[in-house]
Amino acid sequence: MKCLICHGEDIQVKSVYEELARGNDVVRFPFEVPVCANCGERYYDRAAMRKLERLRAQLEGKTLELREIGKVLVCQQ
Ligand SMILES: [Zn+2]
Repeated sequence: MKCLICHGEDIQVKSVYEELARGNDVVRFPFEVPVCANCGERYYDRAAMRKLERLRAQLEGKTLELREIGKVLVCQQ
């Protein structure tokens, strides 16, 4: 498999977080997806896309059990 963006050939499955926003909060969801080592492009297959859409819908419905691990801070300068 070659990267569609940079045509690099070093694509490996990695553990990454996909982030979704809910109001001012950011929720991180763990994913295992192929990632291009050269440009960082992530390749989501159909199953991963469906999972992401399902999580997005659940996040809006507030049915997910979430744990706070930190704060999101904004620089005012
Ligand atoms: Zn690439």
